[in-house]
Amino acid sequence: MKNYQTLLFDIDDTLLDFGAAENLALRMLFEEQKMVLTDEMKAQYITINQGLWRAFEEGEISRDEVLNTRFSLLFLEYGQEVDGKLLGEKYSSYLAEGHQLIDGALELITELHTKFDLYIVTNGDSKTQYKRIHDSGLYPLFKGIFVSEDTGFQKPMKEFFDYVFAQIPQFSREQTLIIGDSLSADIKGGQLAGIDTCWINPKQKTNDTSSIVPTYQIQKLVELYRILNVEKKPITINH
Ligand SMILES: [Mg+2]
Repeated sequence: MKNYQTLLFDIDDTLLDFGAAENLALRMLFEEQKMVLTDEMKAQYITINQGLWRAFEEGEISRDEVLNTRFSLLFLEYGQEVDGKLLGEKYSSYLAEGHQLIDGALELITELHTKFDLYIVTNGDSKTQYKRIHDSGLYPLFKGIFVSEDTGFQKPMKEFFDYVFAQIPQFSREQTLIIGDSLSADIKGGQLAGIDTCWINPKQKTNDTSSIVPTYQIQKLVELYRILNVEKKPITINH
């Protein structure tokens, strides 16, 4: 059993349910455009958005390009020319309202924060992420929050992790674990940075890469208690 001291948590689809926040924000955005969001449009949006974020993770385009073009590209599919930047900003403000916790996340983090040094490492928009982290009740349980926008780099870039490690007092690579749902951002990033990794894979997706190998793979957050050798206590959370 390894003795970890520092835990780096991803936020979206690791501790907060991004799908739920995204659904709500998209519905509100489409409503405002006097359109009804269909499942097909949602699927189309996901394809466009994922493609842009992947290009961003690989350093091909900037974060602003992702945020400012995803809606112009989407609405173009339906023959509409829209102001991508304006819609992107509206969407971000709606997205910031969504902070639904993943099952067991608050209980887990509440338990872990007394035993480990907890940090958040997330790609995304700083204002949006801070608001969601605050509103979810997670904020006071973390020693620090690192949002890609503030660091100038993003996961999986080694520079992002160098920045994070430099800010953590008495940092030790050997005693650090990153926990996240993205193979290409969290696990690849951790691997490049030389720390252990835990891939949360609730839908049991196949790892079709040969180069990204997580140290641990789990389906649910609750499995972390065992990996971290922490007893799961019945606790009361005041919502
Ligand atoms: Mg994630």
